[in-house]
Amino acid sequence: METNLLCLEKECAFNKSGSCYASHIKVEGYDAYITPETYCDTFRDSSSFSLSNYGGNISLTSTQNISCSADNCKYNISGGCSASFVQINPQNANCETFITK
Ligand code: SF4
Repeated sequence: METNLLCLEKECAFNKSGSCYASHIKVEGYDAYITPETYCDTFRDSSSFSLSNYGGNISLTSTQNISCSADNCKYNISGGCSASFVQINPQNANCETFITK
């Protein structure tokens, strides 16, 4: 399966080989002006979160399934993400694709 959302946060329970299976994600960063001020709020540490007990939808996530509060990002359109490709970083699950307007 193809997706345009690459997640390098391998510690996340929803991550399988760089693809996200959270079905949709929430990226936070309301006051962000740089990438480290953004983060994926859907991240769940695999050491303490088990998908086998998870009652939510487990399906491949793409950029169309992102809700984002980073209003200062040029890709943010009314809380959605218009980027054709998004990368979530291994450090604190922040959004590498963030760029200021
Ligand atoms: S590219 Fe911008 S709008 Fe898209 S998820 Fe990252 S911070 Fe949010």
